[in-house]
Amino acid sequence: MDLSQQSIAKLREMVESGPQQIVILSHTNPDGDALGSSLAWAKALRALGHTVTCVVPNRFPYYLDWMTDVKSIVVYKNDEQGITRQAVEQADMIFCLDFHTLSRLDAPLSELIASNTKAKRVLIDHHLNPAESFDVMFSHPEASSTSYLVYRLIEELWGAESVTKEQAEVLYVGMMTDTGNFSFSSLTPDLYRSLSVLSATGIDIPQIYNNVYNSFTEGRARLFGYVINRKMKILNKGTVAYMSLTEEEMRRFWFQQGDSEGFVNYPLTIKKMRMSAIFIEHHDFIRISLRSRGKVDVNLFAGRYFEGGGHKNAAGGKSYVSMAETIARFEQAVKEFVSEGLL
Ligand code: 5GP
Ligand code: MN
Repeated sequence: MDLSQQSIAKLREMVESGPQQIVILSHTNPDGDALGSSLAWAKALRALGHTVTCVVPNRFPYYLDWMTDVKSIVVYKNDEQGITRQAVEQADMIFCLDFHTLSRLDAPLSELIASNTKAKRVLIDHHLNPAESFDVMFSHPEASSTSYLVYRLIEELWGAESVTKEQAEVLYVGMMTDTGNFSFSSLTPDLYRSLSVLSATGIDIPQIYNNVYNSFTEGRARLFGYVINRKMKILNKGTVAYMSLTEEEMRRFWFQQGDSEGFVNYPLTIKKMRMSAIFIEHHDFIRISLRSRGKVDVNLFAGRYFEGGGHKNAAGGKSYVSMAETIARFEQAVKEFVSEGLL
C-alpha cells in the first residue's frame, strides 16, 4: 500500500505548524479499530502540542474499557455538557477515522459536523466508496484496518521509533479486531512488518487478546448458545445463514452493548457457508451485520437492500420495518443475488 506523498506533505504542513484545536471523530457503535486508531492518532497529535478531543456517537463495548485513555473519549450520546459542540465549533481540523460517510455518525452528530465550516477535514479510512469531500484524504480500502493506516502515517511522518508502547497497544487492538485476529483477507507482508515494530515496543500480545476476546459476561455466552441453536436459519443449499435477535430476547440474557459482537462470523465456520447475516432489533430500527467469504460481495448487498455498506466481506446496514418484514426482504434479496450469479 502506497500513501500519497502529496497528501502526506499537506498533512505534515497542517499538523506541524503550531498548536491547534483538533477533533477526532469515529463511527457509531465504535469498535476496536475505531478506538485504537483514534487514541493512537490523538497521542501523536498531543505530542506535537495540539489540543485534541476524540468523539464517538455512542457508547463503546465494555470489553474495550481497559484501553489507555479510553475514558477521555467523549460519547456524544451522553455529552450533556456540550463538549462536542464546543470542540467542533472551535476546531481548526477535524479527522474522520474509520468511516466513509457522515451518515455513519447518525443524525444529530452528522448535522453538527456538516454545519461546521471553519475546520479543515481529513479522512483516514479503509471503507469502500468515500461519500464526502475532504481537504486531505487517505482512503485505502485495501488496508485491513484504519489502525494500520494510522501506523503507516505515523511512521511516514515521524518514524517508526516515535511509536510508544501505549500507542502500539491500541493500534494492535485495531489491527487484531478488524482482521478477526489476523484471519481475514488483506494480511500483507507490510502488515506483519508493522506488527513487528509494535511488538518491539514490549506490548503484551496474549494479554491484549485476553482483554478483548476473553472478557465477556455469562449472559453473552448463553445468548450466543441460544442464537446459534434456536435462531440460525439456513438458506440456499446451506450457503447462506441468518439469525435475528429481538429486544425481548436480548433483555432475557442481560444484554450489554457489544454482547452480540462476533456472532455473525460463526455461521461461516460451516464449510459450505458463503454468507452470514444477523438482524439486531434496536429501539426504532433493526441493525444488520453481514459477512461473506470469497467473491460474495456484502458491501454491494448492504448498499442495494439495506441502505448500508462497508467492505466486500464485512458490511452492515439498517432496516426500518418489522423483524418479519426485514427477514422477508432478506430472503427475497438472497434469491435475487443467486439469480444474478452473485452468490
Ligand atoms: P459490523 O457488522 O461489524 O457492525 O460492520 C461491518 C462493516 O460494515 C464495518 O466496516 C462498518 O463500518 C460497516 N457498516 C456497518 N453498518 C453500516 C451502515 O449502516 N452503513 C454503512 N455504510 N456501513 C456500515
Ligand atoms: Mn475499521
